Amino acid sequence: MIPLTRRLLAACTLGAALTACGAQGPARQGPAGSASPSATRPPVLTPGPGGLTPVFEHGPRTLGRTVAFTFDADMTADQGPRAASGEHFDNPGLIAALRELKVPATVFMTGRWADQYPAEARDLGHDPQFEVANHSWSHYAFTADCYGLPTVDSGGMRADVQRAYNSLRAAGVPHAMPYFRFPGGCYDQRALRALSGLGVTAVQWDVVSGDAFATDADAVTRQVLDGVKPGSVVIMHCTRSAAPTTERVVRTVVPELRKRGYRFVKVSQLIGETAGHR
Ligand SMILES: [Zn+2]
Repeated sequence: MIPLTRRLLAACTLGAALTACGAQGPARQGPAGSASPSATRPPVLTPGPGGLTPVFEHGPRTLGRTVAFTFDADMTADQGPRAASGEHFDNPGLIAALRELKVPATVFMTGRWADQYPAEARDLGHDPQFEVANHSWSHYAFTADCYGLPTVDSGGMRADVQRAYNSLRAAGVPHAMPYFRFPGGCYDQRALRALSGLGVTAVQWDVVSGDAFATDADAVTRQVLDGVKPGSVVIMHCTRSAAPTTERVVRTVVPELRKRGYRFVKVSQLIGETAGHR
């Protein structure tokens, strides 16, 4: 690393490709032109005792009216045949609405979803309005007894998270965030321990939209509007077949929250503010 850095500095001093040197700046002199961790690494929470995976639920309540919308792109390992027979686990209309309304958002994507919809995954991964995070590969539960989901055994938890990152990368998501959402939001100490050392922050929420399997958009809308407080994290879904009202809900809720003085941010911003507050 040092020789390369010296070479880059020497090239800059000689005036060769000054523009490139200036554009690179001191933070981009790593081995493969990669940014230095301190300059670009997304904020995470400090691990607990023994490296235990930290859990984030919402941002500070006292730093103004910000709210983070999160969308889980669910698809379970065994749902391939359903997708093949025409069921839609994606929701392009919802993503278009978020773009139209200019709402930044965090998408927790399962690896299985990225395998199924690589073009959409890549598109989200390249759009600075969104950040893409990890929602496991299989969408199997990390605890026993979690909404009837099949379970990953504790020996397979880590591998499932890593496999999801591999799928995201293969789909063309260049910088998946070090944030992990447990399938069904179900976790315990054993699950947090199993993911220790991966460097991920587990991301829960404080506002349940109730969009999963909902048919009444007004009820979901009310639940979001009643629940949001400064620093809130709202959970919704980016899966047409299982959450058909979400686009309508977003189109109603966003202008109303803006009227109430709320600003939309990504989860990384709330985590950064929380980490900075400790
Ligand atoms: Zn999910």
